[in-house]
Amino acid sequence: MRLVFEHIDFTIVGHLQTILESEGIRTELRNTGSTGLAGEVPYTQVYPELWVVENSDETRAREIIRDYREKDAATPTGPAWVCEKCGESVDGIFNECWNCSTPAPV
Ligand SMILES: [Zn+2]
Repeated sequence: MRLVFEHIDFTIVGHLQTILESEGIRTELRNTGSTGLAGEVPYTQVYPELWVVENSDETRAREIIRDYREKDAATPTGPAWVCEKCGESVDGIFNECWNCSTPAPV
């Protein structure tokens, strides 16, 4: 297990997990929610973490993440938007709601 990415915004960590999984890299998320097991990490602020299961995938995973981040930085993204259907606040990098898959308003 190797930690390859962590970010305060769970939606970004989850999005990168989807990308890595689609590349055939097995991953695992940690620290994904305040609704986790009672008594677990009760006192410190922890960021969601993305781990790769196979150590041999670490280098490739980091390259994919770096490419994604560079592309993301190069492409101006819109501001966060609010889903019309479920009311979730969605990061501007997503063009559909992470919660219910409703497309972003145009
Ligand atoms: Zn929604």
